[in-house]
Amino acid sequence: MNPQQTAALQIENVHKTFGGLEVLRGISLTAQKGDVISIIGSSGSGKSTLLRCINLLEKPDQGRIIVAGEELKLKPARQGGLEPVDRRQLERLRTGLGMVFQSFNLWAHRTVLENLIEAPIHVQGKSRREAIEKAEALLAKVGLSDKRDVYPAFLSGGQQQRAAIARALCMDPAVMLFDEPTSALDPELVGEVLKVIRDLAEEGRTMLLVTHEMAFARDVSSHVVFLDKGEIAEQGPPQQVFDAPLTQRARSFTSGFS
Ligand code: ADP
Ligand code: MG
Repeated sequence: MNPQQTAALQIENVHKTFGGLEVLRGISLTAQKGDVISIIGSSGSGKSTLLRCINLLEKPDQGRIIVAGEELKLKPARQGGLEPVDRRQLERLRTGLGMVFQSFNLWAHRTVLENLIEAPIHVQGKSRREAIEKAEALLAKVGLSDKRDVYPAFLSGGQQQRAAIARALCMDPAVMLFDEPTSALDPELVGEVLKVIRDLAEEGRTMLLVTHEMAFARDVSSHVVFLDKGEIAEQGPPQQVFDAPLTQRARSFTSGFS
């Protein structure tokens, strides 16, 4: 890791409270280009909230978010928390954050191809031809070329999730954010989605991956962050966090998996 290079994503001291419950208690993280950071932790530990604060789907109460060297300008919101100073800057920085949810979130009334080209055309201002060319290349990459003109309802969950990943990649994001991308899938479909994520990791894509797939996290991650009650209770290389955790909290969490 070269400390001089611009980090793909940096977050500093992010706090978030929901009605008196402090869900994030000062989270700081840096993803250098090519890092694959897995975020693990029990249900309710704040993993989804952290990803949602990074792209301002939730308003953090405090903290800084810097995408590819550009800091998101935030100001106190009237209803509490921080909100973007400039919506256009938020939209621009969001294009640098490719979000993949547990529940696929494809537009049901658009074909796979239409799902992929929507944002490149309307947000990035690409020509239709250019957007289609890129979308086709990404569909080939995730093994869905033959589903180009199909509506999401006719795809399996694994295919829908691969389409959702391709859709995020169409924007050339600096960082991919995955929130339990395989949790909603039937077990036999998990592998095809993990394979796509593994290919992205091997290509050097920068990723934050919230997952319960511990064996996978251990295998693909450059760094593992264990979140417990809204705090980073332990972090380090996967060998440390999974095989030789330094903290008791991480030890009791990961002991069930190894
Ligand atoms: P995880 O993804 O690790 O399971 P979450 O980030 O979804 O955890 O949730 C962390 C905590 O914040 C939980 O206690 C959850 O109930 C609470 N929470 C999440 N979103 C909201 C919300 N919109 N309003 C109120 N509480 C929330
Ligand atoms: Mg979650």
